[in-house]
Amino acid sequence: KDAGKRTYRVFSSEMVDKAAEQVWLDSNLRKALVATDQLSLYYQPKICLKTGVVRSVEALVRWDSPERGRLSPMQFIPYAEESGLIVPLGKWVMQTAAKQAAQWQAQGLDIRIAVNLSARQLCDSTIVQDFADALRQAGLIRCLIDLELTESCLIDETLAHALILQFRTMGAQVHLDDFGTGYSSLSKLARLPLDSIKLDQSFISSINEDLTSQAVVRSMVAVAQQLNIQVVAEGVEVEDQADFLKSIDVDSAQGYLYAKPMPVKEFEDWLTNRKK
Ligand code: C2E
Ligand code: CA
Ligand code: CA
Ligand code: CA
Repeated sequence: KDAGKRTYRVFSSEMVDKAAEQVWLDSNLRKALVATDQLSLYYQPKICLKTGVVRSVEALVRWDSPERGRLSPMQFIPYAEESGLIVPLGKWVMQTAAKQAAQWQAQGLDIRIAVNLSARQLCDSTIVQDFADALRQAGLIRCLIDLELTESCLIDETLAHALILQFRTMGAQVHLDDFGTGYSSLSKLARLPLDSIKLDQSFISSINEDLTSQAVVRSMVAVAQQLNIQVVAEGVEVEDQADFLKSIDVDSAQGYLYAKPMPVKEFEDWLTNRKK
């Protein structure tokens, strides 16, 4: 009985913590979406492994809460997905990225921006319209916004297929993020009209220690090449990893070896210094 009571109490206090956290996040994220100076996008470049050229960046959201300071996406994205706030947050991300792309275009910088989409956003019936609105409001003549989907976005394959086609018709490239970590079969990859896969960083981090990871990466890359799908490696931290990826013709790479995600000004400086 005693143990039973104790177990119950622990379980219950965890539930209270989680519920309290959900309440805090809900009301504060709602405020952040109005007073948008709390939210910002950081940009991390994708580097072409053959030429070293940067043609695109990934936008990663950051939240500076007046109460708690900097929160990483892992601290609030899952809650936002649960509450549905990911939909307005996702709209803000698309709009902000589109404005930034238009600004770079006006400065003569030809850079595409990829935004991350949650499965929850894809289920929202207005996602295509929201994307189109973001492009139009930013005055983007050419679509410079790409989308990163995770395997959880592909569970309803018929819906995913139709949406990917619509985004591509609008000029967006569609990438499959965290590839290899989910349950997607390789045959699904063959059926979907994707532009690229992003090999998850968990594979990249072990490439140089273990031959199994090398073999796994090699075979994923070979399949993608057969299907004419580009390959991006994420989480590249050391030169040896980049060398291996180059040797098997991976198209591009992203990671701390090249640059961390940066605020817009810092990214622009990084790009300028690199060209010198
Ligand atoms: P992700 O899309 O897989 O993004 C890659 C994460 O790895 C980013 O973490 C990035 O900062 C980090 N990273 C980049 N290079 C390296 C490296 O060389 N080594 C290591 N160890 N890490 C590296 P971040 O910014 O904390 O974002 C975490 C996740 O949050 C993202 O994973 C993505 O799933 C989600 N996320 C971020 N922004 C958004 C957004 O605007 N919308 C949605 N739906 N999700 C987002
Ligand atoms: Ca991503
Ligand atoms: Ca990823
Ligand atoms: Ca990830």
